[in-house]
Amino acid sequence: MKQPPPQVKYVYRFGGKHTEGDGAMRSLLGGKGANLAEMARLGLPVPPGFTISTEACAEFGKRGEKALFDLIRPEVAAALENLEKLTGKTFGKGPNPLLLSVRSGAAASMPGMMDTVLNLGLNDVTVAAMIKRTGNERFVLDSFRRFIQMFGDVVMHINSDLFEHALEALKKARKVKLDCELSADDLKELIASYRKIVKKAAGCDFPSDPIDQLYRGIRAVFESWDNPRAVRYREINDIRGLIGTAVNVQTMVFGNSGSDSATGVAFTRDPSTGENKYFYGEFLINAQGEDVVAGIRTPQQITKAGSVEWAKNHNISETVRRQEYPSLEEAMPECFQKLDAIRRKLEAHYKDMQDMEFTIENGRLYMLQTRNGKRTAAAAVKIATDLVAEGMIDERTAVMRIEPAQLDQLLHPVFVKSAEIKARKLTTGLPASPGAAAGMVVFSAEDAERWNELGKAVILCRIETSPEDIGGMHAAKGILTARGGMTSHAAVVARGMGACCVAGAGELNIDYKAKKFTVGEYTVREGDWISLNGSTGAVYLGTVETVEPELTGPFGAIMKLADKYRKLGIRTNADTPRDTRVAVKFGAEGIGLCRTEHMFFEGDRIIAFRRLILVAETVKKLKIQHNVKELADLDKIALNPADRNAVEQYRAALKALLPLQRKDFVAMFKALEGRPATVRLLDPPLHEFLPQNDNPKGQKEMAEQLGISVAAIKKLVAGLHEFNPMLGHRGCRLGITYPEVTAMQARAILEAAAAVPGAKPEIMVPLVGNVKELALQKAIILRVQSEVEKAKKCQLAVKIGTMIEVPRAAVTADRIAEEAEFFSFGTNDLTQMGCGFSRDDAGKYLTDYVKQGIYEYDPFAVLDQEGVGELVRIAAEKGRSVRKAIKLGICGEHGGDPRTIGFCHKVGLSYVSCSPYRVPIARLAAAQAAIRADRK
Ligand code: PEP
Ligand code: MG
Repeated sequence: MKQPPPQVKYVYRFGGKHTEGDGAMRSLLGGKGANLAEMARLGLPVPPGFTISTEACAEFGKRGEKALFDLIRPEVAAALENLEKLTGKTFGKGPNPLLLSVRSGAAASMPGMMDTVLNLGLNDVTVAAMIKRTGNERFVLDSFRRFIQMFGDVVMHINSDLFEHALEALKKARKVKLDCELSADDLKELIASYRKIVKKAAGCDFPSDPIDQLYRGIRAVFESWDNPRAVRYREINDIRGLIGTAVNVQTMVFGNSGSDSATGVAFTRDPSTGENKYFYGEFLINAQGEDVVAGIRTPQQITKAGSVEWAKNHNISETVRRQEYPSLEEAMPECFQKLDAIRRKLEAHYKDMQDMEFTIENGRLYMLQTRNGKRTAAAAVKIATDLVAEGMIDERTAVMRIEPAQLDQLLHPVFVKSAEIKARKLTTGLPASPGAAAGMVVFSAEDAERWNELGKAVILCRIETSPEDIGGMHAAKGILTARGGMTSHAAVVARGMGACCVAGAGELNIDYKAKKFTVGEYTVREGDWISLNGSTGAVYLGTVETVEPELTGPFGAIMKLADKYRKLGIRTNADTPRDTRVAVKFGAEGIGLCRTEHMFFEGDRIIAFRRLILVAETVKKLKIQHNVKELADLDKIALNPADRNAVEQYRAALKALLPLQRKDFVAMFKALEGRPATVRLLDPPLHEFLPQNDNPKGQKEMAEQLGISVAAIKKLVAGLHEFNPMLGHRGCRLGITYPEVTAMQARAILEAAAAVPGAKPEIMVPLVGNVKELALQKAIILRVQSEVEKAKKCQLAVKIGTMIEVPRAAVTADRIAEEAEFFSFGTNDLTQMGCGFSRDDAGKYLTDYVKQGIYEYDPFAVLDQEGVGELVRIAAEKGRSVRKAIKLGICGEHGGDPRTIGFCHKVGLSYVSCSPYRVPIARLAAAQAAIRADRK
């Protein structure tokens, strides 16, 4: 016989003697439901109720309202009956009516994003019964008008302004300021006008049947799971994989039923500093929860100590404080004692800082919610280290408690929160490099440098940046671009520098000529102040106040713990001695990527390098024409004066660049104090070093510097033009064509290494796709090495390896490992070529791809593990099969992403390399990956 399908349970009761759920059932009951059940189990005073599961919400979405309600109706009816028994009240009738709150609660906390209805069950009959029972007409009528307003707004979708206007009009007519100054008769009048508003807006009467009210409330909460605000919140906070919200239906308790009643919110420790000096929180006497949030009345503090400190900060005298704003400890000492005992019990039970909501009804304390409290990064590290010291949690748990990305808050200047809230937002771009910056707008890198020298704070605003802008980017407090994604030049360089950057703010219309940009109705001109929040992408008009963060003791302690548990090494991507020093300070164990081309842009280097570019093609052709390999071979051949000149200019440029590069490497090796440095040979296409045709001023300047015509520069630019430069003449392809550049760079690195005791250079060949490319470049480096060793009479400990950033290299990694002593995965290019997305242009459509779920995340920000990650895994395996101890690292932008770091741990990389300001984040994420793997 066919068995009937097992009955799915959708409703879980809590309170009274039988609580069905518990704290571990978050995904089914939501955080609020699970914790209400857990508190009830702990014997805490929780008003009884029941939770309709998140599975019901999912079914609501799939089957529709009617089918779902038919399914849950019997369980809801039984749970209601049970509630009536527990409370001695009756729903919608009788002398002692039961009123309910209906609240949302998903597995992840989404404060204020979904809907809530309070005081449900009120109608003319229950209002009359309650007035009779409480003898407090005003309180009951006030509850009723609040109910109509909330239900009208949340359930019936009536514009809440209509209710607010009616309320304000009445207060004006009565010449009163506060809601509580309205009399019972006033409230009757207000209720009448509220009913009219409902009738007019919804075309029907306000529903009086309590069961109808209840189901409509449940429906509203389920529907609020998908309201745009909630969807956006989940997007921003990367909340994924949840099936819906639970609905918590709970007996109402009233904090607004007289002066012996109150409602409040409290934290077991200070959520902004993590301090545990006293019991933190606020409450209001004779109020409902919404009044605390609404900010109309000034909340009071929980403890006397907190209250005294608060009064001091607000210039309130002790007498006024005691009379008007007494603490809960003073105003309701018994309830305070109980609440204080509960806070200790809850923290000891959850072993974490709790954020609690409570209500006191006629002198009786009730707990309405507890959850792990949200906290700042400073508080997170302080609480975690304190809890270890107090023996409440172990070290591993402490490491797991901190959100790696949150550490960013501790490393960059940040906006003062209250100032940011008040600021006028112009637009939002990508949060490309965290921190906060305020400055005057300039539109060229040159101006940025000039203004900076004059002591002005500037924000460099560009359509997009190019390597030429590096000086200006350095000089600017922040960088704003209209185009480009998370791996655009501006984003990568800014992160490397630890400079605040908002990239790809597409609403900006930049007019370089007029030195202004417009966003909608606003025009911002050169010299106007704007502020950037690089952690959120927000751009504000004017100056928003910032504060320098402090790297406090607990932060250091957490980093130490992270180092104890992580297996991955942490290196940094740094191109300057300054960046190197910052990274070392943050705990970097070496350089994983030094992009040497960045050194070509500073000062005179660019001139020397441009001289080289100018004649490079001629020299190459001469070598082919005369069938020689080495530059020196051309000396033996009779060349015409122009060609001879070109050869000499080429040689002179290399000679000029050598000491400059060497000096940089010496400084970097010194800053590293014996730590290894992976130095990459020249990578970008040569055109990036030249002013393009859209930069006539730059071309003119170059013409003057090099003593040639602008036409000659235009010809050079045209000659170097490529349709697809990212797949063009770049990386080791340059070294193959211009071996002298490879030799010069290798010499600069090795001579610097010879000059700095303990230096550990690792020379890296970029963009290798075929082992023969590497072999040719390696031969040049080895030749230079032996020359330097002979000249300096020393033995150098040098490693030669390659980047794996071309898919062909990944799948032939065993062949490549025959030549390479190390691999560094260049996942920016590997993603570009692996997925076939242009690094520079994909921003335009990748957001759509993520929205439609084609890729879970932007593959340039979080490694696409299934595809690009598989290339990494294959290459790692193949590399190790040939060279067992091969060193494997990652130096693409993904190296600083906590999710990617977890993957790197899994595939057994030796280290990850990231920008200096992400080093602490990477240390923590690596420790978490190791702990997670151990726990499995
Ligand atoms: C990469 O491709 O991942 C890489 C680190 O190199 P670049 O970003 O300089 O191309
Ligand atoms: Mg690359």
